[in-house]
Amino acid sequence: MFPKCFNCSNNLSLSWFLSAFMWTEHRCVKCSELHEFTNLRRLYSGLIVAGILFVPPLLEGVIASQGIRIVLIASLLFTLLSIIPGQHKLSSNEDVGVK
Ligand SMILES: [Zn+2]
Repeated sequence: MFPKCFNCSNNLSLSWFLSAFMWTEHRCVKCSELHEFTNLRRLYSGLIVAGILFVPPLLEGVIASQGIRIVLIASLLFTLLSIIPGQHKLSSNEDVGVK
């Protein structure tokens, strides 16, 4: 399941979800509810990085090209990252109010 807004169920920006820094908050384009990452997200992105570093060498006998191995594993892991639930929540900083 791709990341959705908890307030209005609108799909959130996947580029924010996959490439933003931990501290980057995201405002829903539909209802302007503010979202932030959870600590789970920190854990998962660490695992993704570790996976990209350590999994490709294991496939050396299966896929000859190192470039293809890395691209393959990275896209697989990022797909996984985009569908794992529980990585974002409504931001508690809402009343700080940058609108
Ligand atoms: Zn929304």
